[in-house]
Amino acid sequence: ERAPVVTIDGPSGAGKGTISQLLAEKLGWKLLDSGAIYRVLALAAIHHNVELDNEEAITVLAAHLDVQFLPGNENKGIKVVLEGEDVSTTIRSQECSDAASKVAAFPRVREALLRRQRAFNEAPGLIADGRDMGTVVFPNTPAKIFLTASAAERAQRRYNQLQDKGFDVNIDRLLFEIEERDERDMNRAVAPLVPADDALVIDTSGIDIEDVVDLVLAHIQMKL
Ligand code: C5P
Repeated sequence: ERAPVVTIDGPSGAGKGTISQLLAEKLGWKLLDSGAIYRVLALAAIHHNVELDNEEAITVLAAHLDVQFLPGNENKGIKVVLEGEDVSTTIRSQECSDAASKVAAFPRVREALLRRQRAFNEAPGLIADGRDMGTVVFPNTPAKIFLTASAAERAQRRYNQLQDKGFDVNIDRLLFEIEERDERDMNRAVAPLVPADDALVIDTSGIDIEDVVDLVLAHIQMKL
């Protein structure tokens, strides 16, 4: 790694997004929201009528993906621009969540996105938020965190988030989808969702965000 990297992995709704953003702000570091890359790829596939189960075509799309991550938006402070269009809100829809986890299951698609993700590693440092940041993308960093929380708590948090953004959602359906997506993310052959052997695992159920941030900062100071 060129600059120090802190990896924040875990299932959706464990608090990765919020905590990664707070850490990046506190440290003045860059932020990689790797989930947004899979989401935007899924959206590009939908826009271009590429079948979500066509690994070959999705891989080609991934290699040529015209996406920019710009500062200044309500979503993790990052504005996501696909082929010139601001898709920051669109990529947070349930359709994109679902499609993202489908395209993310293809080994060659993940391979095609590796270099793009590693390019985020710039001075003074990087907070990398995802599923395989510590296991695959930045395996050599000593500072790895794995955040988790109960499925019920994660569904509730997602519900609140989506409601705030004006999406009309049903909590039971959300819980079902979270469990289904976890299942797919944990059981895929390539880069499954598992903590790196050397990651600090934190269960955030019932813990204040600020307290989690403090725990993570203490761990980073010790490791870097
Ligand atoms: O984190 P987020 O919910 O935005 O990620 C959307 C989907 O992208 C996840 O469900 C997962 O399938 C995929 N993903 C991944 N590897 C990452 C980040 C996200 O496979 N590093």
